[in-house]
Amino acid sequence: MRCHGEYLAETVRLSGVALAEGRYPVAALIVDEAGRVMGCGFNTTEERGDPTCHAEVEAIRSAAGKMAQAPHGRYVLYSSWEPCLLCAGAMLVGGIEQVVWVANASSGGMRMFLNEEGILTDGRRSLRALAQPDQALALKMHRFHRIWHEGQKPFVRCDDTR
Ligand SMILES: [Zn+2]
Repeated sequence: MRCHGEYLAETVRLSGVALAEGRYPVAALIVDEAGRVMGCGFNTTEERGDPTCHAEVEAIRSAAGKMAQAPHGRYVLYSSWEPCLLCAGAMLVGGIEQVVWVANASSGGMRMFLNEEGILTDGRRSLRALAQPDQALALKMHRFHRIWHEGQKPFVRCDDTR
């Protein structure tokens, strides 16, 4: 039996670590039905110069080998931030059964693509979504993102041209 809160809290903790390291504060974990963590990911778009390296996609890449050994496993992806459409598609194709995220994005999130039951489907596969189940953790993530957007971004320094 999985307890969402424990894994959501871990994604927030990892996001705080990323922020402290000057990285974008988002983290994702993939957990199987026994509660084992299959993989984890951070946003590495700036370091790698690749706009597809979102935390959720990186978690899927990290877990893919283990998931391939148990293709009928039931996997939950936990993200500290609402996934975008790219990540929603990757989860659908990647065999994730449910996604649970800590904080809703103000724009660009996958909520707008869910049906009335909170499900994203391509007609063949389905992904259940649970948005922002813990308000205290969501507030913490919004604070991390405020700090990030207001603060120094070590990888993008416009004054480094002199
Ligand atoms: Zn994304």
